[in-house]
Amino acid sequence: MRHWLDVPREGMAEFFQTAGEPEYRQRQFFAWLHARRVADFREMLDLPATLREKLAAAGHLRVLTEKVLRRSADGLTSKWLYHTPATPSVGVSPVESVLIVEQGRRRRTVCVSSMAGCPLGCVFCATGGLGFRRDLTAGEMLEQVYRADCHARENQGEGVSHVVFMGMGEPLLNLEAVLAAADRLGDPQGLGLSGRRLTLSTVGYPEGIRRLAEARRNWRLAVSLHAPRQELREKLVPAARRWPLVELFQALSYYRQASSHAITFEYCLVDRVNAGVGEARELVHLLQGCPARVNLIPLNPVDGFSGRPPPPPVVRRFQNILREAGIPATVRMEKGGDINAACGQLGGEFLAPTPDKP
Ligand code: SF4
Repeated sequence: MRHWLDVPREGMAEFFQTAGEPEYRQRQFFAWLHARRVADFREMLDLPATLREKLAAAGHLRVLTEKVLRRSADGLTSKWLYHTPATPSVGVSPVESVLIVEQGRRRRTVCVSSMAGCPLGCVFCATGGLGFRRDLTAGEMLEQVYRADCHARENQGEGVSHVVFMGMGEPLLNLEAVLAAADRLGDPQGLGLSGRRLTLSTVGYPEGIRRLAEARRNWRLAVSLHAPRQELREKLVPAARRWPLVELFQALSYYRQASSHAITFEYCLVDRVNAGVGEARELVHLLQGCPARVNLIPLNPVDGFSGRPPPPPVVRRFQNILREAGIPATVRMEKGGDINAACGQLGGEFLAPTPDKP
């Protein structure tokens, strides 16, 4: 049976025509799904009971099963572990999403997974150690947003204000579904998020960056850089062997012509690995001529990687070198450390590693 959140407007039109329903019923249903984001057909009070029964018989409103919901002690970070429906090839898969409330509760950001697991194996990422299970559908991504939105409305009084595709997985390797989900989030008849409130985060897949540029969506782009030179980056981000820095920056240059937003570079600081004065200066050199901001993230330790976060003076020194060169650099502390909110950590408690998809 279909997941209604996977169905685009055109697909709905076909269902309503076949069911002999007038066109305005489809608009009403779309609004229940994407503007009001309800999870129960019984709440769709302006639809006749017979139509609600037909819709329920034809599809689901929610398919993810909530296994764990943890809230940080300060109540500002919530993290979910869901299970996807079973598929014949991989069975049930774990999926995480996180809601982070910041800036005096004005900003409520949900971090969405685009895959169950991830094939890229970054060394400081717990998801990388899980291996790849499968791509998520657009509906499964939207469901993560809508569930977090419902939670935010209940606990913060207002729903989600920003969405980042930065959870499990590499969104540009599942671009078609990510585009469908993000387009639905931007639909003025739905959540209506503007492009500056939507961010795609990539480990640096050049072909995906070019395709995103050609899709002309003008969302924000974040790139997980983590090292200023090729040989060091390959140690931290194994995918860099396939996607060298030179190709990455050529693709970013192409992307900049299509987007009005500065690119954000995520840089995870690992003591005595990539956090020295030399790396900071190399990073300044690398970013010359590229309008960008840098998020510095002291490592959140994960099992299986011996790296440690640098002491605060080392973090400040790195930040100052960037700022003195005119590059906006902020230090982002990992939110929700007390609930394992770092990428892949919650799922990692419940699932043994699996072999990567070839
Ligand atoms: S950091 Fe992102 S791309 Fe790298 S392994 Fe983790 S989920 Fe995959």
